[in-house]
Amino acid sequence: MTAVSLETKKLANYINGKWVEVSESTAVINPATGEEIVQVPLSSAGSVDEAVAAAKKAQKEWALVPAPQRAEVLYQVGYIMKERKERLSQLLTMENGKVIEEARGEVQEGIDMAFYMAGEGRRLFGQTTPAELKDKFAMSQRTPVGVVGIITPWNFPIAIATWKSFPAIVSGNAVIWKPATETPIMAYELAKIFKEAGLPDGVINVVFGAGSTVGDAMVHHDDIRVISFTGSNDTGRNIAGECGKQLKKVSLEMGGKNAVIVMDDADIDLAVEGILWSAFGTSGQRCTACSRVIVHESVKETLEERLLASMEKLSIGNGLDESIKVGPIINKAGMEKINSYIEIGKNEGAKLVAGGYALTENDHANGNYFAPTLFTDAAADMRIAQEEIFGPVVSLIPVKSFEEAIEVNNGVAYGLSSSIFTNDVNRVFKAQRDLDTGIVYVNAGTTGAEIHLPFGGTKGTGNGHRDSGVQALDVFTEWKAIYVDY
Ligand code: NAP
Repeated sequence: MTAVSLETKKLANYINGKWVEVSESTAVINPATGEEIVQVPLSSAGSVDEAVAAAKKAQKEWALVPAPQRAEVLYQVGYIMKERKERLSQLLTMENGKVIEEARGEVQEGIDMAFYMAGEGRRLFGQTTPAELKDKFAMSQRTPVGVVGIITPWNFPIAIATWKSFPAIVSGNAVIWKPATETPIMAYELAKIFKEAGLPDGVINVVFGAGSTVGDAMVHHDDIRVISFTGSNDTGRNIAGECGKQLKKVSLEMGGKNAVIVMDDADIDLAVEGILWSAFGTSGQRCTACSRVIVHESVKETLEERLLASMEKLSIGNGLDESIKVGPIINKAGMEKINSYIEIGKNEGAKLVAGGYALTENDHANGNYFAPTLFTDAAADMRIAQEEIFGPVVSLIPVKSFEEAIEVNNGVAYGLSSSIFTNDVNRVFKAQRDLDTGIVYVNAGTTGAEIHLPFGGTKGTGNGHRDSGVQALDVFTEWKAIYVDY
């Protein structure tokens, strides 16, 4: 594959439809090779002020554009993304490391979201209800909130941005977007696409920079009415605290400690396939990644044996090579965190049966590569079975019954995604009722969300809002009740 390249060595902010350069910058590193790809601006709070001023002005006009016409721009965005799918996918692999097949899947999610949200431009913008009194008309209508701030993580640099910005735009808001500093290239490419698609200047503004500067300035800005955040639990809780003080609406999508349950009646080969993909896809750096396997004790040995055999076949390396199945870890800090959990797991008494080390030789010498890792005989209350590791590390937890499996699944602080492998229809229905997560899969791994369904979790994963699906519109709209006497 001939890798695509960027036409610039230094990115610029996109404010009011113009590229605005910033003097301070930092390097964006390809996690597969350790090479610099481009410089990304480290903006100051002043850039946020500039972007908000432009957004405020643009939003007034944009809100008056009929929603079906706003949707037209999203259709154009979708068409251009489709044309550029391969370019976007390769750049995504270069900045984030995920293997090219997954990058194509992520870009496709963004394309799907463009067309799905464009469709919303002709639907669901209000209801009429019978009025209590004669000669009165009563209705309710979604209205835009104004200027919204979206803060996105590095692990899905384009999909999550589309889950947030497209519903915000179609419902008449203007957006300030702060992408993760590690992965700014998708934001740069998407800003170009918005411009080409005809989105009026100022409706979307991209401000690059550190979370503690740019993100913090957005959270504290009086004219930003909503913050939609996806990222880590600690950052999200701090943002929520600040937004709480200002009575600012905040939508949080945070971590997970997702489990695959394998019952005694399960198709074990199917379960192995589901675990492999959801545990080691994106090197385990997904909010929905499977990091626990809760297995009925009677099938534990068989599952372990077959899982180990499949793990051995996983090729690890630069994700631009089509044959590679597991790419690099995003950065050195991520590697250190994973390493620290290997030590924690060993000290807690779990049995390390595969991986547990960084790959440092030959093709792996300059990137951040960690071997797919399996702990067995883990207990449900161990830290490796409770805390988000965000790497290719899975713990097998044996249980004696279906009821215990559900209890172990629910016994963590997070509630994003869960899955059960079983051929018993009664267990299927009980599990979908009792698993305390925002997403439940039956006979599939914990990953693979579709954009027309709500995405998000319970407990420590979020605060009740959802990305994706029609539910995403709730984050970016207010309901107005209107009464007309005649
Ligand atoms: P993170 O460190 O919290 O960063 C997320 C975003 O917040 C980045 O853009 C970051 O900017 C910004 N930020 C950092 N400090 C900030 C502050 N004080 N104020 C405002 N913004 C700030 O998370 P991450 O490591 O990028 O992402 C991984 C996490 O995201 C994992 O926990 C994963 O589970 C979670 N995640 C959840 C979902 C979901 O839908 N539930 C989806 C994907 C990922 P910088 O780039 O400058 O650090």
